[in-house]
Amino acid sequence: MAYTIDNEKCLGCGACAATCPVSAIESDSGKYKINADVCIECGSCASDCPANAIHK
Ligand code: SF4
Ligand code: SF4
Repeated sequence: MAYTIDNEKCLGCGACAATCPVSAIESDSGKYKINADVCIECGSCASDCPANAIHK
């Protein structure tokens, strides 16, 4: 199972994109999205998200 971002909970802070070691998180007009093809499932984004919006 890949990590996904719940855009209803996301605050758009960008912390997940900043912490991702492989730049798998992109924002498209303020909506953050994880590219599952690039993600190595390290869990950093989920740990750093202040809104608890990222889950596996
Ligand atoms: S789990 Fe790790 S590799 Fe995947 S998007 Fe989050 S920070 Fe990036
Ligand atoms: S860290 Fe959480 S709240 Fe911040 S942009 Fe990423 S998913 Fe949204």
